[in-house]
Formats: sequence, C-alpha cells, structure tokens
Amino acid sequence: MAVSSETDWVSRFADEVIAEAERRAPGKTIVCASGLSPSGPIHLGNLREVMTPHLVADEIRRRGYECVHIISWDDYDRFRKVPAGIDPAWAEHIGKPLTSVPAPHGSPYANWAEHFKAPMIAALAEMGIEFHGISQTERYTSGAYREQILFAMRERERIDAILAQYRTKDKGASPAPRQTPVDEAEAAAVEGSGAATEDDGSAAAGYFPYKPYCSACERDLTTVTSYDDETTELAYTCVCGFSEVVRLSEHNRGKLVWKVDWPMRWQYEGVVFEPSGVDHSSPGSSFIVGGQIIRDVFGGDQPIGPMYAFVGISGMAKMSSSKGGVPTPADALEIMEAPLLRWLYARRKPNQSFKIAFDQEIQRLYDEWDALARKVADGTALPADLAAHARAIGTAAGPLPTTPRPVPYRTLASVVDVAAGDPEQTLRILRDLDPADPIESLDETRPRLDRATHWVTTQVPVEQRTRVRDEPDAELLASLGDAERESLRLLLEGIDEHWSLEALTTLVYSVPKLQAGLPADAKPTPELKVAQREFFALLYRLLVGRDTGPRLPTLLLAVGAGRVRKLLDA
Ligand SMILES: [Zn+2]
Repeated sequence: MAVSSETDWVSRFADEVIAEAERRAPGKTIVCASGLSPSGPIHLGNLREVMTPHLVADEIRRRGYECVHIISWDDYDRFRKVPAGIDPAWAEHIGKPLTSVPAPHGSPYANWAEHFKAPMIAALAEMGIEFHGISQTERYTSGAYREQILFAMRERERIDAILAQYRTKDKGASPAPRQTPVDEAEAAAVEGSGAATEDDGSAAAGYFPYKPYCSACERDLTTVTSYDDETTELAYTCVCGFSEVVRLSEHNRGKLVWKVDWPMRWQYEGVVFEPSGVDHSSPGSSFIVGGQIIRDVFGGDQPIGPMYAFVGISGMAKMSSSKGGVPTPADALEIMEAPLLRWLYARRKPNQSFKIAFDQEIQRLYDEWDALARKVADGTALPADLAAHARAIGTAAGPLPTTPRPVPYRTLASVVDVAAGDPEQTLRILRDLDPADPIESLDETRPRLDRATHWVTTQVPVEQRTRVRDEPDAELLASLGDAERESLRLLLEGIDEHWSLEALTTLVYSVPKLQAGLPADAKPTPELKVAQREFFALLYRLLVGRDTGPRLPTLLLAVGAGRVRKLLDA
C-alpha cells in the first residue's frame, strides 16, 4: 500500500523528492543514494545512512514511480589505520585503496573492502532493502569518471577558491563524511572513510583536486608537482621515492579529493535524495561545500539532504563483541526480527536520535511493537503509527517474513532462560502456555524464538540468568511458619487445574487473597499487595534461590508441575 501524503516524515520526503525529480528530469528514474565505507565493520549506527533513503525510495516505489536506491561503496578510499585485533603487519598497507589491502587472516574474501561489505550486504537483504551497489574502485579504475576528473582539474582554481572560503586553521580535523559515530565512547571505533582527514588537494605546487595512488607502492602518499591542461600530463612524487609523469586522459589509479568527489558523483548519478550525518551541519562540512561546488562548478543541483541524528546502542554486552565492541546490523538482527529493526527507523524522524536496545529494554520494545500490531489489526492505530508499521513489515516488493505465533518476546526469553535452550523442554512449556490453542511446533514461534534465544545467551549477564534448584531448600522449608506453609499448600492444590499462563496468573495472585479471607476476584489493597510480594519472593527463593526471576506463571510452567511440587512441598 502507498501511504497518503502528510501522514509521516517518509511521505513528506517522498512528496518533495518526486516534485524535485519532476522538475529536474520528468519521467526519469528517481535516484536516492547512500554511501558506506567498508574500512572496517560497518557500525549499526551507520544503518541510518541506508534506512533513511531506503524508506523514502520504498515509498516512492509504492506510489508507482521508478526509483533506484544507490549504495555507493567508498572502497577506493585509503586504508587509514590497522584496527585493534588485526595483525599489526597490516600497517604496511596504510595509504592503499581498501580494495588493495588483503582481507584479515582467515577471511574467505578477496580483499579488505569485500570482507567488511559482505556481512552488511547480508543484513540489508534480510531487512528487505533493495539497492544498487556501486564500487567506487570499479568506477575509478575503469575510467568512468574520466571527463569529470579532467573537468575538475581544469576548474581547479574555482574549486580552490570555493574551498578557501571554508578553510580554517584546523584544516583536516573535519569529521568523517557520512559516518555516524554512535556515541562519543564508540566514536573512536567508527573512524570513517579515508576522506575524513585527507587534505583537500592543496599542495606547494598549487591546488589539485586529484590524488594519484603511487604506481610503485600503491599508496596515496603522493604529491602532484605539475599538471598541464593541454596534454593532461600530471607529474607526481611519492614518499617511497618513486616519481613519474602520467597522462590523466589515460590514468585510472587515483581519485578526486572527497569534497570534490561527492558533488561530482551527485551530478554523475543524478542524485535527488541523499541524507548525511549531523556532523555535516557545520559550515565547511562536505555537504555544504559540496552544494556550492555542484552549483558553481559542475552546474548541477544538490540533492535534498536531511541531516540525521546519531543512533545509539544501549547495553550491548561486551562478551558478545567479537568485532572489537562495534555492534553491526548483523548483531542486531541476531536478537530482533527485521521488521522490529525497520520500525525503529521508520517511526522516528531523521533528526530525532534514539537507541537500539541490546539490554532488558528490548523486552519493553517488543511489547510496544506487539501492542501496535494489535491496534493495527483492530483498526485503532493512528495514521502515523499505521504508516510506520506498514513500512516495518514489508516493502513495495512484498511482506517480510513474520513469526506465525508471536508469543511475547519476554515470555520467550523467560522460557529459554529456564529451559536452558533445551528444545524438548522449550516446546513442552510453550505448549502449556495456552492449552486451548496449544503450540505444536517450535517453528510456529520462529524466528522470534531464535532471536530471544540469542539475546538470552549473549546479552543477559550470567548473574541474571535463572537456575532452577535441583533439590528443595530443606532449611528454608523447615523454617516456614504456618501461614507460609498454608500458602504453598493452596498453590499446589490449584496448579493442576490452573496449568496455563492465564490461569496460573490468576492462581498466584489469588492465594494471598484466599488466606486473607477474601474472594479470588477481590480488588487489591495495599496490605494485599504486600502479602502478594512476600508470597512471590518466597516462591522465587524456593524455586530459583533468589528474590526475583522471570514472571511467576511463566516460571511455574517452565519448571513443570512435578518439579514445582518437589521444590515447594513443605
Ligand atoms: Zn610510492
């Protein structure tokens, strides 16, 4: 379904992009774009760079327009530093294009860039994101940008004059293009593309927006020493001692500096929509400078480009981080289903920041998501919520896979926790949740079950995991007073006929009421609430040896009637 205009931020951008595309080139395929640097693991925070144009492009397609979403892989950028955990010998590759650096040890991929692109491509496929990937290595080394490069060199004085308006004395300290650090603590792990600290083309011999990679050592530690517009002969020297003269009309081993490269590509691809991180709102940022360069030099139009806010992560357990503490979209998709992850982006405007929960908060998030699904089903969802839901569960190409029986995530997490991953025990507990309509196979609860399992095993700290007692706590049982013994007796008496999630919930709340001489449906009073809390704490101590644990009805189902009797028999 196409969502009518004005319902949410995605529709409003789609309106704007369609109008702008019609103004520029009526009837042509509309181009939305993202850029990603495979300089290392691609951070979950950078998913917004893709999700923002994806959602807009998807809405445009839902309205029946041809629209392509380009993901430009900045894989011709220089390798800047050896990340933690990588053989320090990789330092010899610093300055080479990312596609010329060997992949880390043990990787099946041909080079560094491919190694880090692959998991991102898999995650994007799982999320239903349709895109056209463009390798900048392929583009530059095939000579695709020949005319644009020669043009930029001819126009170098004008480009230099524009850049000069923005240069400050701390030149080179500008933030990485389009790479969004998740928060300051993680920023260091997310160093962006090679463009981040590159010079803008200034050299002693003049200004040159083109930087060759050295023919001898492949690194970009080169300096252009002269250029002849007539012959296109370009002379350069390299710190390795090599120097040569090449003909730029034939040379394919170099690239335009970032601040010229980006607007050149807007023009080349005809990009109408491309967002960028908030770090671009400052004067002198690539987006601002690029806008002036495309207008004044290339004679084109800057894309519509909203600034998007940072996306943070809450509580990713360090123990699960095999990639130097940098959570990736693949990590998120191991603990949550693709529609939920899509929803987080769809429901917030790009300028609103939010966090992706790896901690207990994920359970509340899932509750909220399930509540929304119920509202959508019964027709009570608000238009903006309805739009966000529709964008989350599918794309113009069709719906994404769903879980046939969406048991609450927190229930699944408790079941998995108590069953310690045992599939037979898990199925037994799930079957008992609702005896009137029993779950017959674990597959009915997948993939949500698998995500909850992964969350429990990788993100819940060991000390918060539940361990059901093997043997009764004889000492505690012997110390109980008459009222406590009576409460246990009332519970055990009722469990067989209350063996479902709903009925056990009623039972555990009613035991203290019956003891107080009240009917089972009595309204809770402050005294009753205290009695219920004390009763629950006693049950937790006897069942799992702690004062708290998973919700009691789930815990009782998980432990099983036989073992409950054994552990609570006073
Ligand atoms: Zn060299």
